Amino acid sequence: MKIVRFETYNIEPRWLFLKVTTDEGICGWGEPVIEGRSTIVEEAVHVLGKMIVGEDPMNIEHLWQIMYRGSFYRGGAIICSAISGIEQALWDIKGKVLGVPVWQLLGGKCRDRIRMYAHITPIENPTVDEICEAAKDKVAKGYDALKTPMMLPIRHIDTMAKVEQYVNKFAALREAVGKEVDIAIDFHGRVSPAMAPIFCRELEQYYPMFVEEPVLPENIDAMVRVTRSTTIPIATGERLFTPWAFREVLEKQAATVLQPDLSHCGGILSTYKIAAMAANYYASIAPHNPLGPIALSSCLQIDTCIPNFTAQENIRLENDLDLGKGIFKKPIEIKDGYVDIPKEPGLGFEVDEDVLKEFVYDGSWTCPVEFFEDDGSLADW
Ligand SMILES: [Mg+2]
Repeated sequence: MKIVRFETYNIEPRWLFLKVTTDEGICGWGEPVIEGRSTIVEEAVHVLGKMIVGEDPMNIEHLWQIMYRGSFYRGGAIICSAISGIEQALWDIKGKVLGVPVWQLLGGKCRDRIRMYAHITPIENPTVDEICEAAKDKVAKGYDALKTPMMLPIRHIDTMAKVEQYVNKFAALREAVGKEVDIAIDFHGRVSPAMAPIFCRELEQYYPMFVEEPVLPENIDAMVRVTRSTTIPIATGERLFTPWAFREVLEKQAATVLQPDLSHCGGILSTYKIAAMAANYYASIAPHNPLGPIALSSCLQIDTCIPNFTAQENIRLENDLDLGKGIFKKPIEIKDGYVDIPKEPGLGFEVDEDVLKEFVYDGSWTCPVEFFEDDGSLADW
């Protein structure tokens, strides 16, 4: 079997799908994308794809090595995201050829269903009441794990009022959903190493499930400082690429929850390797995924077969497009906050290519405008 063709589709609202075709007619799908950088990753997919056209798609590790190590300059968000999507498509092909879901090829299943966690950011700049209502709505739908973001922007050193404002908001959220529901907080790297321990100290009493990216991930030692200052579990990983980057996080014990993104970190096998490393440190995996249904399908394969899994992120769009509704012949179904183990071969879905064309756009979506401090200087987004 040989790889013959790479086709990419920019898909609304901000995704990039990849179809890899073989000479035997079997096709695989992947989602190689960085939000707001879609067309750059698309170009990288075609450049890297040329390196493996004519090769046997079954040799996934070997082809990954060719794309990653074979061109001297390695890593980074763009190259790793392109490789990740290609790698997903190769697994999809392999599973379809062998007639089994991908998790069967990675040691079999470790659980009977997959716990999902839902975002509760209903609208931009929501009020406390609106956030609480959104949380209660998700709990009513069966979710027992939620995530809420840190407000914007926070100065390098900010006021007691700013700290109290956020902590009171979280306290209201805890009150609204009770003690049986996990609530994670995403600091989004917006908080400085000076302020993060202060926020964490005040939030501890409300038992957050974890604090995600309490500080930016470029300096792992700064994150270690925050981690050592608090009893709240610290999570990170969406902006780390390849298992090598996660090695440092684990070795320094900077986080206890790792969030590799299967569309950025190198793909399915890279995530499996990260999970295996994490298990040695008793750390768990909560795969990052704000992306589309192919990325989510890849996550579900990993969620099934790793022992140290916490919960799967899912943005849950109003129209369920992120679950494949209108794109997959059979969309992903969330029941009472859980997804059943995928049973179909490969990544477990069939794309309706006629319908898919309706969602194709030019890939021009960019991240929202940067955030600024009161004095006009840039704040971290
Ligand atoms: Mg995040």
